Order: sequence, then C-alpha cells, then structure tokens
Amino acid sequence: MSIPMPSSADSLPTPAQGYVGRFAPSPTGPLHAGSLVAAVASYLDARAHGGRWLLRIEDLDTPRVMPGAEQIIRQQLQALGLEHDGCVLRQSERHAAYQNAFDTLVRDGRVYPCACTRREIADSLTRAGIQRERNHELVYPGTCRHGIRDGRVARAWRVRVEGHCIDWQGRHTNAMHEDLAREVGDFVLLRADGLWAYQLAVVVDDAEQQVTDVVRGADLLGSTARQIYLQQLLGYGRPRYLHLPVVLDEHGDKLSKQTGAIAIDTSQPVAALNGALSHLGIAPVSAPSLAQFWPAAITRWAESDWMKT
Ligand code: GLU
Repeated sequence: MSIPMPSSADSLPTPAQGYVGRFAPSPTGPLHAGSLVAAVASYLDARAHGGRWLLRIEDLDTPRVMPGAEQIIRQQLQALGLEHDGCVLRQSERHAAYQNAFDTLVRDGRVYPCACTRREIADSLTRAGIQRERNHELVYPGTCRHGIRDGRVARAWRVRVEGHCIDWQGRHTNAMHEDLAREVGDFVLLRADGLWAYQLAVVVDDAEQQVTDVVRGADLLGSTARQIYLQQLLGYGRPRYLHLPVVLDEHGDKLSKQTGAIAIDTSQPVAALNGALSHLGIAPVSAPSLAQFWPAAITRWAESDWMKT
C-alpha cells in the first residue's frame, strides 16, 4: 500500500510561527533528578526562544498513576519557579480527541484488531526463529493483519506499518533512519486493557497544542519514528525534536519513579536547578533567589550549544 506522505519540510513549523514547547510528565510519582532535567531544558528552550511552555499531565496509563502525584509535581514546579502558560491539559480527559483520531485511522484502513497475547507473539517469533525484541517490546509478526482467526476475540488495535522507513533529524542528533516494519512492527494504539497507547495520545496532543518543539529525554528517541509515522497518517505537522541525555542511577539504569528514584528537594530550589543545569553541561548559576536565577539561566541556555540548531 502506498501512503501519500506530506513532506516534512512542508509541515515543519518554524520559530516565526511562534515557538510552543511543553513538559509532559506522567504522574507516576514526584519529579526526580531525571524528570527535572526534561522540565528545566524544555522550559529554558521555550523561554530562550520567546515561546510558550505548556504543561501536560500524561495520566492515561491509570494502573501506573500514583494518586496525588499530579499535585506533588505541580507543587514542585511552582516551588522551582517553573511557571507554565495556559491551562494544564490532562490526558485522562481527552478520550474524545483520541477516539476521533483513531476513527480517522479506522476509516482509512490503517488499523486492525488483534487477538494475540504477548505470550502468543513471543511463541510465534520463536517458532519462526526470529529474535526480535526492542526495549522489552516484541516486534509484532503480523499474525492478525489479515483478520482474526475464528473464535478469537479482539484485544488490542494495531496500526499497519508495512514497509515504512522513517528518516528524521533531531536538533542534536545525527540523521536517524528507522525501518519501522523491521524494528517495531505493527504497533498498538488501543491497548488490550482498553486504554489509549502513549504513541497515539502524544501525537494527537502535540498537534492539538500546536507544539513546535518537543524537548525530552533520550529514552524517548526510540518512540519518535512511530510518532512521526502517526503524524503522517493523520496529516499533522512534525515538531522539531531535541532529546536530552538521560540521568542514570548508580547501576547505569535510567532514573525512574518505578524504581524508586528520590523526589527532588525543593527546599533548596537553586541547588536543585543547578543540578539539572550541570547535567546539561551548563555552568551553575550562583543566584540568591529564583527571581535572579531564571534570567541568568535562560541567557546561559541561549548561548549554549543546545540553541545552535
Ligand atoms: N510522559 C512521558 C514521561 O513522563 C514523556 C512523554 C514525552 O515527552 O513525549 O516520560
């Protein structure tokens, strides 16, 4: 099937159209040193471009959401002087928008129901002698692509990615090339537990919020091609992407709320923020207050290599 792809050059927003950035934490726990880096860098980049900085709470994955975490995150941001523009967008309230995008994909024949369990996918890959797994995600072998076998019940919905290679260039990454069919396979948009998948929600929200620049951790580099692919299918523009070095724990693993990363200490806000700057290779700002810290930090960011793209 050949899919008409809008050229990225046509759809790429330019700063002249007005920079819009965002910070999109999942409220699975308080902000820790890793998520603070994404918050600080996305904020500095937006302010250094004279742009807007939006806050989006990615609370779709309800089994992972920690009650009260959104309030804690918002208090932490406030204590650090990270003031967002406009209203907070909460993904749990956006079912209709995701359904709408999904209906477009159904209408265009891009998605199909899938009855496979993870176990069955693993077994069929083993039988075919294929070891295809990336970040613990199995590359879907396409079992249900031409219909669900009799007696089986649809669990999830997947988008077809036959033969799609995605080329993209991040603001600070080498040219990227991803063969989606080989490296990911048809991926899930509506999960077996009835929840919308992150990949669909993030693309719909970035488009609707007119985000021009996505600044986030490099752990999400591997999701970007899937998101660009969905943008193409849905006729959305492509934001610019800036991926940041991930903060690792003492075992070399990404700091995460699930593995108990410590909440940042906002009683010493300048010290906490300087920790994030230092991770980004920016010299600490010696300032007695947040009011003096932020303008100096924005100037440092504006003069740094991060802005040279
Ligand atoms: N919600 C994601 C996280 O907390 C970030 C998603 C994104 O920036 O695209 O890791």
